[in-house]
Amino acid sequence: MSIPILEVCGLRAAYGRIEVLRGVDLTVPKGAVVALLGPNGAGKSTLLKVVSGQMAPTDGHIHLAGVSIHDPDPEKLARLGLCTIPEGRSVFPNLTVEENLTLVSYAGVPAEAVLETAFAYFPKLLQRRKQLAGTMSGGEQQMLALSRALASDPALLLLDELSMGLAPLIVEELYDTVAQIAETGVSILCIEQFARTALRVSDYAAVMTGGRIVATGEPAEINETMSEVILGGA
Ligand code: ATP
Repeated sequence: MSIPILEVCGLRAAYGRIEVLRGVDLTVPKGAVVALLGPNGAGKSTLLKVVSGQMAPTDGHIHLAGVSIHDPDPEKLARLGLCTIPEGRSVFPNLTVEENLTLVSYAGVPAEAVLETAFAYFPKLLQRRKQLAGTMSGGEQQMLALSRALASDPALLLLDELSMGLAPLIVEELYDTVAQIAETGVSILCIEQFARTALRVSDYAAVMTGGRIVATGEPAEINETMSEVILGGA
């Protein structure tokens, strides 16, 4: 079996004295899409913050592509192929679509190749290449955020609530593209409130509540657990 792209063991983290991650164990196999589900306040975003180096853990281990990450530092994580799309719109609103895609130097990928990939996944962005990103719809901004993430040629994409504030149809379209991205070999860990949509494109899912992973499995197995957790039966 190949080394997982991400392995998290016994991860703990706190805001001040309040412990929010209470021993999280989670594995993302190489090339897989894993949905991280759970009620509000479960600690999902905090887990992504710790894994992406924005917040220090108080205990536990993280292995990224087999490398032990003692002190998660965003630059080192990026070199190992980790790329995060945080909650909210992570584009530069006052730059055009094209500038958003080309102004940052991405892992030596030529600008033309970055644009070509973005427009292949999202033809709408081609029509809007000269438009300021901040004037686009929420869905289009997320297309741009995903395209910027792809420009760094990631091995693992962390997606936090891609669907935030978007209409269900747009969310379905975005996740269709997430599935296409995964088919190219990119591993993906996504937090998503649209659980059914996330489960549709996932290979595995994990349910988090109270700062711990309480269930993991294939989407069909998780459906039932999920409703128990959300409805308070677990
Ligand atoms: P949601 O879906 O509502 O975003 P979540 O599962 O992502 O929930 P987190 O955002 O990780 O959960 O929050 C976990 C807990 O940590 C919550 O009780 C939240 O109030 C608390 N929390 C989050 N951010 C902070 C912060 N910056 N300072 C203090 N407490 C925080």
